[in-house]
Amino acid sequence: MNVEKLLNKFIAVSVANLELICYNNSQSVGFTELSVDINLYMERFFMKKAVVTGGSGGIGEAVCYRLAEEGYYVYTGFCCSEGKAKKIAAETGGEAVKLDVSSMEDILSVSEKAGTVDLLVNNAGVSEIDLFTGISEIKSRSIMEINLVGAMNCARLMLPDMIRRKSGCIVNISSMWGQIGASCEVDYSASKAGLIGFTKALAKEVAPSGIRVNCVAPGFIMTEMNSRFSEDELELIRADIPLGIFGKPCHVADAVAFLASGRAEYITGQVLAVNGGIVV
Ligand code: NAP
Repeated sequence: MNVEKLLNKFIAVSVANLELICYNNSQSVGFTELSVDINLYMERFFMKKAVVTGGSGGIGEAVCYRLAEEGYYVYTGFCCSEGKAKKIAAETGGEAVKLDVSSMEDILSVSEKAGTVDLLVNNAGVSEIDLFTGISEIKSRSIMEINLVGAMNCARLMLPDMIRRKSGCIVNISSMWGQIGASCEVDYSASKAGLIGFTKALAKEVAPSGIRVNCVAPGFIMTEMNSRFSEDELELIRADIPLGIFGKPCHVADAVAFLASGRAEYITGQVLAVNGGIVV
């Protein structure tokens, strides 16, 4: 079949689907509205889709904007910050979706809504600073369920379609503490080290299906997560950063966009550190 015939067939199928959608919604539309809708429909049809968990947070927000710039239709996942997620979605031309990663129902509903997911960014995370013995078993379990098990479950539900299509990409947001461990953040470090192990093992398992899985390990990035530190504490932390400045969410977003792109087509199972030289 030549290209023109293929395109005609595609347009016919698209119009038929669109008519079905209009019919199902009991909408009656004029020709002009229909052509606008067709354009939108076709635009959406060709866009790659990305799901960003914790898209409403400091790093997640930067990732959503960056991926939208790269041409993705972005599902901005939120747990509590619905208003912020909706604003990001409106500005990026995507959708805000309730995605508590500790809820299988939420994960299932988002993966069904998206249908095809080209890129999953497992970014949702929580941290708790205290002595290991000061963290309750319930709190410890919740850190693991959000930071590690939540990421695994998102991948579990979104991978089958990627495997069927033999295409897809997963980027997990770990932490430098997952690489070297942090005193008073033992549960957090363990969850983030788990994400690194998960990344490496899954990368090997799904590589034959054409799917890449990588990890970004940020250092100290200025977001809400670090708002608990006083000015004096921040100055002490900054003094330990070889590049002498705190990281910005856009630094992490650039690393995610790179790993998701064709420029990283031969990179899988890796941990890309974005930390100003703290951990080398
Ligand atoms: P943040 O601004 O505090 O954002 C955290 C995000 O996680 C929010 O969008 C929040 O959603 C979401 N979240 C919390 N619980 C959730 C749940 N049960 N289900 C789904 N989403 C949930 O933190 P951030 O600095 O952007 O951190 C983003 C990721 O980077 C985290 O995984 C963090 O561990 C990692 N990281 C951060 C740094 C850093 O220095 N900032 C360093 C290394 C790694 P709602 O607001 O909607 O509830």
